Amino acid sequence: MSLLAPPSVQPLASILPAEPPLLMGAGPVPIPYAVERANSIVINHLGPTMNRVLQSVRAMSRYAFQTATPHIFGISGPASAAMEMAVSNLAWPGRRVLALKTGVFSARFAEMATGVGASVDVLEADVAQPITADQVREALRVAQYDVLTIVHGETSCGVLNVELPEIARLAREHGALVIADTVCTLSALPVQTDEWGIDAVIAGGQKGLSCIPGVSLVSFSERAWQAVQRRPRPCPHWCLDALRADVFWDKHGYHYTAPVPGLLALYEALRLIIEETLETRFARHLHSSLALQAGIEAMGLQLLVPAPHRLTSVLAIRVPQGVDGGQVRQRMSAQFGVEIAGAFGLDIVRVGQMGEQCRSHHLFRTLYAMGSAFLAEGVELDVAAGMAHLEQALAGTP
Ligand SMILES: *Cc1c(COP(=O)(O)O)cnc(C)c1O
Repeated sequence: MSLLAPPSVQPLASILPAEPPLLMGAGPVPIPYAVERANSIVINHLGPTMNRVLQSVRAMSRYAFQTATPHIFGISGPASAAMEMAVSNLAWPGRRVLALKTGVFSARFAEMATGVGASVDVLEADVAQPITADQVREALRVAQYDVLTIVHGETSCGVLNVELPEIARLAREHGALVIADTVCTLSALPVQTDEWGIDAVIAGGQKGLSCIPGVSLVSFSERAWQAVQRRPRPCPHWCLDALRADVFWDKHGYHYTAPVPGLLALYEALRLIIEETLETRFARHLHSSLALQAGIEAMGLQLLVPAPHRLTSVLAIRVPQGVDGGQVRQRMSAQFGVEIAGAFGLDIVRVGQMGEQCRSHHLFRTLYAMGSAFLAEGVELDVAAGMAHLEQALAGTP
């Protein structure tokens, strides 16, 4: 027997930084200790203990999503898998999908719908602009659609589709199911699944929920569930088949081995939301984001998206001409242990304001690191003014 020689590797500890960096990018975000602890536990994925966990995850998700639906599922996979679960159970060959595109993630919906064989039309917004209800009204007038996909907060460019409730209403009137990605907004700013009439809502672990990456949630309305049950053909993705997932989530039978630590981590992340209450959590997020925005602007940097449709949970900051945003991020990471995000094609850097990122001590460290790094890259900034404005804004009541 001849075996390949083993590679030479170092223990993990020698690869990871001695001190964990502060994750202030567009996800993953820092996780609370209760989540971290839960994520280290493995129990049987079937049986009475797990059933109690599953039932509570569903009950708590209903609160987080603001829905009464019984059809909520946790997914062993990234938020993209939850998007794919919604798309692949509600779209199939012969179905027509209207995908509203404001950036990378909303474009992903169109790719997924094309992948399952649906006919897809893409309604595209200008750079850093949302799709308006008027544009949707017009698109629904000229063609018939079965499904409309929309991203509530487009993380890639920091745009909030503020007209989501009106767009959802138009789609329902038209007879189309609405799939909404609320990965970076759910529990950070209001998402009213039932009140807005959204048929499938997606949340990812590592963003608004302040949990771990690799687990996600999706809810289906009664209307959507009927479509799932009446599919003319089986869902092409065995793991993402909602009817098979229902065997586990509703009947507590075996589908695949559930990501036990991930579900326990979701449990704790959701429990912390319940404990904080959505009202308080929204207020904390807004207060934190507005204070950071005030600091960024007072320092002399510019935000990409105008206030009316600026996503408060992920801020896109313009990189001044002639400056390398990658160098700025590199400096922040190396000198201050603060990581923020770059962008997909746009000349911006992005700072997250999701979950644990919205804590005042993180804001001070991040803003100082960012100001110092831009300054070192030759941008004329008043770092002290930025810090003062941050401090003043935070001192006000949430
Ligand atoms: C991050 C993100 C996703 C994808 O999440 P993954 O866990 O990387 O699959 C989808 N939609 C939005 C709005 C996001 O911010």
